[in-house]
Amino acid sequence: MYLKSIEVQGFKSFANKIVFDFDNGITGIVGPNGSGKSNVADAVRWVLGEQSAKQLRGSKMEDVIFAGTQNRKPVGFAYVSITLDNSDHALAVDYDEVTVSRRVYRSGESEYLINGNACRLKDVTELFYDTGIGKEGYSIIGQGQIDKILSGKPEERRELFDEAAGIVKFKRRKAAAIKKLESERANLVRVNDILSELE
Ligand code: ATP
Repeated sequence: MYLKSIEVQGFKSFANKIVFDFDNGITGIVGPNGSGKSNVADAVRWVLGEQSAKQLRGSKMEDVIFAGTQNRKPVGFAYVSITLDNSDHALAVDYDEVTVSRRVYRSGESEYLINGNACRLKDVTELFYDTGIGKEGYSIIGQGQIDKILSGKPEERRELFDEAAGIVKFKRRKAAAIKKLESERANLVRVNDILSELE
């Protein structure tokens, strides 16, 4: 699996639609200070479901929408789409190519899409479990993040190893099953209460 392309429109400094095509190898993005290099990484983080404006170097989510310049009016929505080559089926879907997209309007209305079909954030998150690609993954290492990892709590570092070992999805499923069991247990207590009232 590798990142084939990123499409951005109205996201941060990218007012117009731009497509970055990548080959299977190493790509460097170079440019003067403030030209938007980090915004490319922010776009990937955002499309993968980042919910924290701070992680995207803004103060509110609307800050990801192109805010205009002296010569250019602001735009009404931000759109990012990433396409991954999945011919090795590293992502557990049948498609050889997977495109994940996210759009947000100034009204706050937003949507996620997988291969053009509307989906929930949960679907995007689950698609990338144990691949290292998700927004919590280690495939995007921001400035200062290495320091944070090295000086982080052992439990936080453990999460990185869990992701690399491919056990996150099992841990999440276990947590969901335990939650369901607890609610079923509460239902059972309630049913028993009703039964004893009727007896
Ligand atoms: P450096 O080399 O200094 O780290 P960089 O190339 O990584 O810089 P970025 O931080 O990606 O640059 O981009 C910063 C630019 O993006 C700034 O010029 C800023 O004005 C612009 N920018 C950020 N958010 C928006 C927005 N919502 N609308 C318009 N421009 C924006």
